[in-house]
Amino acid sequence: MPDTAPGPVPGTGPSGGPGPAGLDAFIAGLPKAELHVHHVGSASPRIVAELAARHPDSAVPADPAALADFFTFRDFAHFIQVYLSVVDLIRDAEDVRLLTFEVARDMARQNIRYAELTVTPFSSTRRGIHEQAFMEAIEDARKAAESELGVTLRWCFDIPGEAGLESAEQTAHLALDLRPEGLVSFGLGGPEIGVPRPQFKPYFDRARAAGLHSVPHAGETTGPETIWDALRDLGAERIGHGTSAVRDPRLLEHLAEHRVPLEVCPTSNIATRAVATLDEHPMKEMVAAGVLVTVNSDDPPMFGTDLNTEYAVAARLLGLDHTGVAALARNAVEASFLDAAGKRALAAEIDAYAAAYTAAGPGARTAS
Ligand SMILES: [Zn+2]
Repeated sequence: MPDTAPGPVPGTGPSGGPGPAGLDAFIAGLPKAELHVHHVGSASPRIVAELAARHPDSAVPADPAALADFFTFRDFAHFIQVYLSVVDLIRDAEDVRLLTFEVARDMARQNIRYAELTVTPFSSTRRGIHEQAFMEAIEDARKAAESELGVTLRWCFDIPGEAGLESAEQTAHLALDLRPEGLVSFGLGGPEIGVPRPQFKPYFDRARAAGLHSVPHAGETTGPETIWDALRDLGAERIGHGTSAVRDPRLLEHLAEHRVPLEVCPTSNIATRAVATLDEHPMKEMVAAGVLVTVNSDDPPMFGTDLNTEYAVAARLLGLDHTGVAALARNAVEASFLDAAGKRALAAEIDAYAAAYTAAGPGARTAS
């Protein structure tokens, strides 16, 4: 929950456009943490062009203009097509390293200082990338991102639910037997319908016993019962999406009381039709119930968004001014798996940035 009570902001409203220019500039410069963003799903047209150039036999255009059209979000089926085309471009460890580092570069441009990137190693190792080489590639990129770009990356290894228990076993093996230094959590993605959460309990039990945090997707395209399953059977410490939580007041109460954060991804929810329109997004009800809400971008270029845009959307939906937006950024730090010192340092950066903005006064607020 934001520390500052949200209040109406002149110029924004349920049917208004993006927030005021001053607020957009504030968001752009704000140091941020992102907790729900996928590795392959973060490949921007620029990155895909670089990957396509490495693999001229691929069907994906390497020409930026053609790629821009390819990437224009049309519907969910088109998103899957783009996603799978990018998966097809990740063929060797160098592709993995390039993708990871370049994703961090796109994050640095948005002043994202810390990200827990959801990686699906099963997709790559199944396609023949050697598992040890995969780990070295992401770790290499992580270290370079930290030293060259000032972006701290941590990994969430997720089970692609649609690939069944074989993928769960393999993901647990990769997470626990080849555990890279940056790995902090264990997740579950893919479709929810027809993929009951409880079947993955043994794999989450093993991951949690090894000290990994539990962050499954739940309640995105199914009802609140899936979120209860994730809490009860998978020991969820944060919920990916959790959009349908608002249909169960007792669940909202439980999430608020036990400080289980929701990783909310507004534009993604519209793209996948989990929510019909942005104005109907239940974020406000989540906040009103006292749930710790974080704002995230999920698969940003594929949904035509980025984290800064998601913050602007959240500011409009919640009626936040710059202090409310800064509080939202602090929520992500609090909900992250950074250690206590890391949390304090990033929260202090956010506070210093917000204080400097306030001190500069309204005249200076639109100058940047
Ligand atoms: Zn996701």
